[in-house]
Amino acid sequence: MEKQTRNKPVIKDEIGFILFHLTPFLLLFTGATKFDWWLLVALYFIRMFFITAGYHRYFSHRTFATSRVFQFLLAFFAQTSMQKGALWWAANHRVHHKHSDTPDDPHSANIYGFWYAHVGWIVGPDYKETKYELIKDFSKYKELVFLNKYHLLPAIILAIGVYFTGNMVNGTGFTDWTAGLSTLFAGFCFSTVILFHGTFTINSLMHLFGGRRYNTTDKSRNNFLFAVITMGEGWHNNHHYFQSSTRQGFFWWEFDPTYYIIKVFSWLGLVWNIREVPENLLHSNKIGK
Ligand SMILES: [Zn+2]
Ligand SMILES: [Zn+2]
Repeated sequence: MEKQTRNKPVIKDEIGFILFHLTPFLLLFTGATKFDWWLLVALYFIRMFFITAGYHRYFSHRTFATSRVFQFLLAFFAQTSMQKGALWWAANHRVHHKHSDTPDDPHSANIYGFWYAHVGWIVGPDYKETKYELIKDFSKYKELVFLNKYHLLPAIILAIGVYFTGNMVNGTGFTDWTAGLSTLFAGFCFSTVILFHGTFTINSLMHLFGGRRYNTTDKSRNNFLFAVITMGEGWHNNHHYFQSSTRQGFFWWEFDPTYYIIKVFSWLGLVWNIREVPENLLHSNKIGK
């Protein structure tokens, strides 16, 4: 298989990304309160939900339908994760499915190695621009193009909100400006760093570790542990087998909390046309059968 030339990230491109990884160390100076740690956990899982429901199951695969306002909110909250614009994310992800584990795959760990698949392709020079021609169905919405262009805006708004919330909860209102710093460093910064790597493991490890149920042309795998840390994305072989399904845990014992929450949203009328796996496909094309 002929590898494409891929450029390694250069330090000047990566500097912001590296410095951001150092921000949790500021907690050594500020300490952290119970509230800060709980917020870290909450903002990890809340944002993971929007990454998987928004970036992935809605914008990349259109596995359910929703209103223009709610789709904006999906993009906005997904982008509080600092994982670039929803249109950028989805356009590249569509290429991943089309060319999985071939030289054209943006992040095949099998071809380009673990580090390139994990972070190299995201922070490096190869995939900087949004391929709008691959995401015409959503790039017709001006507000989504705006968010995609100013992709850090939602994260900045969240960071400011986290700081002021910390100031009020940990301190005595607005008189002590330092009380919210530990909340910012733990609740936003540390949580975001863990969220980076929780999400990136899907790109780097989910084509390497785990079992394979279905015969697919790629090397995608299913893994319970990754399903827990990514709220259901660990059923990656299921997902590559039938990418149009909203649910990725195809059976009741395959933990997929993102799907459960989307289902609740459908009862509330926020989303609709949730797509399921056809019964005949569920039991066919199994490996070894
Ligand atoms: Zn996908
Ligand atoms: Zn994949």
